[in-house]
Amino acid sequence: MLIRKRLKALCCLMVLSLLFVACSSNKSSKELTQFKETQLILGTLGQITVYSDSEKKANEALSKAFSHIDEIENVMSTSKDSSDIFNLNKEAGLQSVEIDPSTMNLLIKGVEYYHTTKGSFNIAIGSLINLWGIGEEWQKLPSKDEISEAKTHIDLDQLEISKEKGTAFIKDPDMLLDLGGIAKGYAVDKGVDVLKENGIENGLVDLGGDVFALGNKPDGNPWRIGINNPEIGVNNSIARISVANKSIVTSGDYERYFIENDKRYHHIIDPSTGFPSESELVSVTVVSDTSTDGDVISTAAFVLGLGEGLELIESLPGVDGILITKNKEVYVSSGLKDNLEILDDDFKVVNN
Ligand code: AMP
Ligand code: MG
Repeated sequence: MLIRKRLKALCCLMVLSLLFVACSSNKSSKELTQFKETQLILGTLGQITVYSDSEKKANEALSKAFSHIDEIENVMSTSKDSSDIFNLNKEAGLQSVEIDPSTMNLLIKGVEYYHTTKGSFNIAIGSLINLWGIGEEWQKLPSKDEISEAKTHIDLDQLEISKEKGTAFIKDPDMLLDLGGIAKGYAVDKGVDVLKENGIENGLVDLGGDVFALGNKPDGNPWRIGINNPEIGVNNSIARISVANKSIVTSGDYERYFIENDKRYHHIIDPSTGFPSESELVSVTVVSDTSTDGDVISTAAFVLGLGEGLELIESLPGVDGILITKNKEVYVSSGLKDNLEILDDDFKVVNN
């Protein structure tokens, strides 16, 4: 996936989403101590917080979790040569490529989600992502002709997957895969798995705002996770929710963008138009059992817009969401209505 350098914005994001950590004391009632590590990873700022009665155990868990996330980046990045995605894109139209089982799983999931989301989530969107280059050095406003041409190379049916052989092949020579909308969530889930395998029961994995809250807080209460203010240049939490063993992922138009001719162009592309998705929405937060699902559904619901986005979230068991519009209206799915606490009165829940 694309390497991003908006560190300042990311730092703010992290400070906000982990506000509760800063507020909690280091020693818990169970005499567990907080250990934290931050690394630049997957083009974002990753922070893992664990609680443990042993420094050695905590440090081992932290370092193993980060190594595993690093391995994921090495197979799924679009830019690292020798990654599976890089190789698949390079060999598009030429030959099939052997891929890692984790890449295989994500490609299969990507295809499934392409159908569940009516094509609004599309891992074959690479040609458009490249054209816009949002967040990269080459970002620019493409011409309508360039967009129309790139749009003819995002047909996911052109991806051939053979699970038995462990290979994949892009038939269209001009099609490019981009796992930027799913890989971070997947990496969060794998990081959580590693923590659990290493005896950690309470903690937080946060990769640039894709968060998993493992267990409860060590005092037995649920984690309180802040929902970012989607306004540009503002850094408060507009609301918070209480969760345990849940993923919280947000897709927003404020996360990465550029401005040209007074218009802002952001990084979530509507595959049906080829342009950054335009709707009444400015952010979608998804609460779900895995961050892989949350990452996909938040991006897809953002593209679908308020009505269909909320419908998609309500239709999926175990999935909830908070959708915020340009008018600071907050729409909450049925499972979260009694959970969401508004902290900024400029924002109003309107569908209660
Ligand atoms: P997120 O920040 O999770 O909403 O994902 C945005 C990232 O996913 C972008 O930076 C692209 O790499 C990729 N992306 C953008 N639009 C789409 C889309 N419609 N379907 C799948 N991936 C997308
Ligand atoms: Mg996503």
